[in-house]
Amino acid sequence: MESTARDPLYSCRNCRNPLALGNDLAKSGQAYMFLHAMNIVLGPKQEKKLITGLFSIAEIYCSKCGEELGWKYVQAYDLKNSASVPPLYSCRNCLNPLALGDDLVSTKFKAKSGQAYMFHHAMNVVLGPKYDKHLLTGLHTIADIYCSKCGNELGWKYVQTYDLKQRYKEGKFVLEKLKMIQQY
Ligand SMILES: [Zn+2]
Ligand SMILES: [Zn+2]
Repeated sequence: MESTARDPLYSCRNCRNPLALGNDLAKSGQAYMFLHAMNIVLGPKQEKKLITGLFSIAEIYCSKCGEELGWKYVQAYDLKNSASVPPLYSCRNCLNPLALGDDLVSTKFKAKSGQAYMFHHAMNVVLGPKYDKHLLTGLHTIADIYCSKCGNELGWKYVQTYDLKQRYKEGKFVLEKLKMIQQY
C-alpha cells in the first residue's frame, strides 16, 4: 500500500473531516465509489431501487458534522426476508443497535477480548482509517469500528485481503462479543 502526495484526499465539504483516499477510488461518475471510507457513520441497511436494480444499501454520514454523504452497497440482490430475524446485537455500553441477527455470518472469530462475530453489515458504527495488520490468517487491510453513540471500540472491518481463501471476509464486519449484548 502506497499513498503519494499526488493522490487527492477527499474530505467533507462541510467540516473538512477526511473521508477517503485518492488511491481507494474505484469508479467515478456522478458519485465516486471507494474501496474504503473513513470517519463516516454507517446507517442501518435498507432496500433501495437504483437505476441498476434493487440493492440493499446503507446511508453514510460524516462522523463529525452528521452531513449525509452517500451510501454503501451492502448486498447487490433482492432481500426477500428483510424482516429482521432476532436477536439484535447492541452496544453493551449504550444500547446503540449495531447488527441484525440475519446479517450474522459466523461466530467463530477471535479478538483480543475473546470471541467475535462476523456480520454482513453493521449500523450506527464509525469507520476509522484503514491500515495493514498481520492477523492469525495473514496480512489484511482493516479499519477499526467504533460505536457512533459512545465511541467504544467494537471490532474491525475487513477492507482488503491478500489471500484468495480470505477473500470472503472483504467488506464484512467483526464485532467483539464482549462489547455487545443480544436483544431478543
Ligand atoms: Zn462533515
Ligand atoms: Zn455505544
